[in-house]
Amino acid sequence: MTAQIIDGKAFSAKVRGQVAEHVTRLKADHGLTPGLAVVLVGEDPASQVYVRSKGKQTIEAGMASFEHKLDASTSEADLLALIDQLNTDPAVHGILVQLPLPDHLDEALVINSIAPEKDVDGFHISNVGLLATGQKSMVPCTPLGCLMLLRDQLGNLSGLNAVVIGRSNIVGKPMAQLLLRDSCTVTIAHSRTKDLAAVVRGADIVVAAVGRPEFVPGDWLKPGATVIDVGINRLDAPEKGEGKTRLVGDVDFASASEVAGAITPVPGGVGPMTIACLLANTVTACCRANGIAEPE
Ligand code: NDP
Repeated sequence: MTAQIIDGKAFSAKVRGQVAEHVTRLKADHGLTPGLAVVLVGEDPASQVYVRSKGKQTIEAGMASFEHKLDASTSEADLLALIDQLNTDPAVHGILVQLPLPDHLDEALVINSIAPEKDVDGFHISNVGLLATGQKSMVPCTPLGCLMLLRDQLGNLSGLNAVVIGRSNIVGKPMAQLLLRDSCTVTIAHSRTKDLAAVVRGADIVVAAVGRPEFVPGDWLKPGATVIDVGINRLDAPEKGEGKTRLVGDVDFASASEVAGAITPVPGGVGPMTIACLLANTVTACCRANGIAEPE
C-alpha cells in the first residue's frame, strides 16, 4: 500500500475538542449553552443509531441535547407545529430533522419550515442559495467534514481538479459548491456521465458519494490523487460469523490505496467528521444568534 491514510477519527476528535472549548467559553463569558434539537419520526434502525450518537456527542461537548421522537404516523401538521415551537425556543440554536422521513411527509416542506439560522444541516433552500452565491450560510455537515479533511491534507486547494461522483442535495451538490469556493476546477459526475473512468483519471481530488459498494477501482485514479470516500455500505461478512456484516465505502480501498496519494478509510474517514461538523455548526448558530464572534 502506498497511500497515506487520512484519519477522520482522529481529526474529528480534534474538532470535537475545539467545539467543547468554545462551549466552555460561551458558558463562562456569556452564560450561554448551545442547544441542538434532533427530531426523529418513525423507527428506522439506522436513523435511531445516528440520533443516539448525535445526542451522546452533543452532551459530551457540553451542549444541551433535545431529542424529539415521534411516531411514524405523525401528521405533517403536528411535525410542523413542533418545528415552529423549536424555531422560537431560545434554548434551541440548532434543529435537525433526521432524514429520510416517512413517505406521507413532504421532506422539502418540512426542511424549509426550519428557521434558516437554526438549520444546522444546511439543507434549507435559503442556506443552499447562500452557499451557491458565496454568502455566509449553514454548510451541510458531511461535505464540510470532507472539505476540512482535504484542507488539512493538501493545504491550499486552489487550481486543483476535483471530481465529485454523485449529485445529491445532501452530499454531491454542496460538496461541489465548497470545492468551487476553494477555487478547484470542479466536475460533478453522476449515473449518466460518459466514460466515468476517464473523468476520474483527470482528478487531483476525488470525492465519491455514490452509494455503491467499492464502485471506484484503483485503476480509475490518477497516481497520487487524494480520495475522499463518503460511501457507507453494509455488506454481508460470513467470514466474521453468521449474520455478521462489514462496512465498505464507494471506493475499492484495496486497489485505490495502491494508486492514491492519500485516502479516507471506511469506517473511520468521513463518517465521524459528519457529527463533529454538526456540533461545530450548532456552536456557530449559537454565536450568530447572540451576536458573538463565531469560531473560524
Ligand atoms: P444518493 O443515492 O442520493 O445519490 C447517489 C448519487 O450517485 C446520485 O447522484 C447518482 O446519480 C450517483 N450514481 C449512482 N450510480 C452511479 C453510477 N453508476 N455512476 C455514477 N454515478 C452514480 O446518495 P447520497 O448522496 O445520499 O449518499 C451517497 C453515499 O454516501 C451513500 O453510501 C451514503 O450512505 C453515504 N453517506 C455518508 C454520510 C456520512 O456521514 N459519511 C452522510 C450521507 C451519505 P443520479 O443522480 O444520476 O441518479
